[in-house]
Amino acid sequence: MLVIPDGAAEDSRLGLTSLELARTPVLDEICSQGRVAPRRTIPPGLGATLDEAPGRAWIEAAAAGIDVPPEVTPRRVDLYRDGLRWEAEDPEAVALQLAESSGGPAYAVGGHRYLVLGPKEPRPPDGCRVRIWGEGPRLEPLLDATTVVVGASGGAVGAARLLGARTVTPPTATGRSRTDYAAKAAVALAEMPRSNRVVVHVAAPDEASHERDQAAKIAALEAIDRELLAPLWDAVARAGGSLTVCPDHGTDPRDGTHLAEPVPCVQWEKGRPPAGPDRLVERLLVGVAL
Ligand SMILES: [Zn+2]
Repeated sequence: MLVIPDGAAEDSRLGLTSLELARTPVLDEICSQGRVAPRRTIPPGLGATLDEAPGRAWIEAAAAGIDVPPEVTPRRVDLYRDGLRWEAEDPEAVALQLAESSGGPAYAVGGHRYLVLGPKEPRPPDGCRVRIWGEGPRLEPLLDATTVVVGASGGAVGAARLLGARTVTPPTATGRSRTDYAAKAAVALAEMPRSNRVVVHVAAPDEASHERDQAAKIAALEAIDRELLAPLWDAVARAGGSLTVCPDHGTDPRDGTHLAEPVPCVQWEKGRPPAGPDRLVERLLVGVAL
């Protein structure tokens, strides 16, 4: 079992981090019994903002179930207004405008995100700034259907599909800063007997960070602790499995940017001796070898 609190980590040199401020008794207990160490999740050279993440648009297309015709390179397009993500009241109308200006189909894929298949530069609505994500090859299938990824439809689910894993999206999962944690826990528990590896992705800490709302981020971490980790750790312990809790990267809730530094990670397995700090916090791992 792997639980990914997206964007949970922060830079401890800038002050108390959300992981330090959140009350997470279950995670603390997992850490005191498990092995806590820093882990590098972003390959060196990929850049702190993930802008250069290769093939991001392929991931978006797979997440939304959009077939990309041969010879077409999909592009992910984000819209910003006044420096913040801009969510249109009528995303379908915006998609139509992006389609017309780019000369091919365009789709609204949630929030400020669009997938554009046309060859030309898309023209954003008046007052908007457009950001087009880096192009690149699609991910190769490294997994198979014995791995299941539980998450809201979004990047993690799209990447999981391209990698060959099964994906399950609870109908009430949002991929936003507030989501239905209990529904994710229920799906993960149901998947345990038929999967070698269950991955639960929670976008909420990352989304709250992008909204520059540290209180919401802390609330998300506390909800993950209470509603996800408590039942999942219990079930994993009874099934004789292992549990890993590891953010995919950090996201700074002060300015909403992604961080590429190593993140704190805990691995627990019954009978395995504990190691490292007894909390999943960045400060205790500064300078610890990867
Ligand atoms: Zn993010």
